[in-house]
Amino acid sequence: MELKIGGVLSTGAGDTAQEHAKVLIIGSGPAGMTAALYAARDELSPLVLTGMDLGGQVALTESIENYPGFPEGIAAQELIERFKKQAERFGARFVMDVATEVDLSQHPFVVKTYGMTYTADALIIATGASPRKLEVPGEQEFTGRGVSYCATCDGWFFKDKKVIVVGGGDSAVEEALFLTRYAEKVTIVHRRDQLRAQPFLQKKAFAHPKIDFIWDTVVTEILGDDAVKAVRLRNVKTGEEREMPIDGVFIFIGHIPNTDLVKGQLELDERGYIKIVEGWVKTSVPGVFAAGEVADPVYRQVITSAGMGAAAAIEARHFLSNQSEMEGKAQLQVATSAS
Ligand code: NAP
Repeated sequence: MELKIGGVLSTGAGDTAQEHAKVLIIGSGPAGMTAALYAARDELSPLVLTGMDLGGQVALTESIENYPGFPEGIAAQELIERFKKQAERFGARFVMDVATEVDLSQHPFVVKTYGMTYTADALIIATGASPRKLEVPGEQEFTGRGVSYCATCDGWFFKDKKVIVVGGGDSAVEEALFLTRYAEKVTIVHRRDQLRAQPFLQKKAFAHPKIDFIWDTVVTEILGDDAVKAVRLRNVKTGEEREMPIDGVFIFIGHIPNTDLVKGQLELDERGYIKIVEGWVKTSVPGVFAAGEVADPVYRQVITSAGMGAAAAIEARHFLSNQSEMEGKAQLQVATSAS
């Protein structure tokens, strides 16, 4: 027997509780939040599974200076809270839970978490991306003990200490600049002799008295005892190896899309991002849309992720109204042939 309590369906003893959503959104970064806002404004009562960290990668940064409408910049946490509040104002619901399994072979789609089974008429995947690892000895062992992927979270622990930042993109340079607030010295270790970061960030970093650079060099090992004490470096041009004493290692070498959940069910591109088969957000399964960094290896900005979120919600609305139109026609046909 089905028992419905406050929108939650329980199918009997031993079963996990079930709930149906017209639009289910997995992920709470700018893409998921904006999808929730748009779907809520369309009265589609979206439900957002936020994952463990509300805000996704944005939550790992301190302030956002290139999101329009905030000429002085805005604290990342505040922007996330504002996104959420705005979506909630129109009826979006946020559940702090982690999707562990999806079944896209049936419709409504099925999404499982540890304690719940959700079904959804339309699904928006906005699971973002995770920091890429260096994959060198010592990296895993010293994560949280001197190795970090988040300057905002861990910078404070390196007050008056010496740290290296690995990478040469926008993230590496921006986070190196942030770390100068705390650290005595920040050394950017880059595998080439030219940064990839935007020119204005480069200019700031080159001019900063606390930042220096080691070019054409990779980290081959992270060494320490209770905490990081040194890194082993190799010059990729000369092959020369040396050890450099250091207190902290911040790694910003790009990201890997979080697609484990949909592997084998949605088409992925050669780099592992969700493949967009039509327009901006349509995936290989009709009714399943992708938004933000899980499907965007190119732009990866708060504004572009938010834009994809809006597009995904609009496409979800089109999908649902086409479906109910088709269902209406089918019912009419059955009624006509029966009479
Ligand atoms: P990214 O642009 O992909 O840069 C990654 C950097 O890490 C590159 O310099 C790369 O070297 C280096 N790298 C990659 N694998 C490595 C390895 N195994 N060992 C050593 N170095 C390695 O990543 P990102 O900096 O995280 O930026 C991602 C996106 O977010 C970009 O589109 C960026 O514009 C955007 N973003 C924007 C802002 C902003 O607008 N303020 C801030 C942060 C990020 P090579 O240069 O040799 O390839």
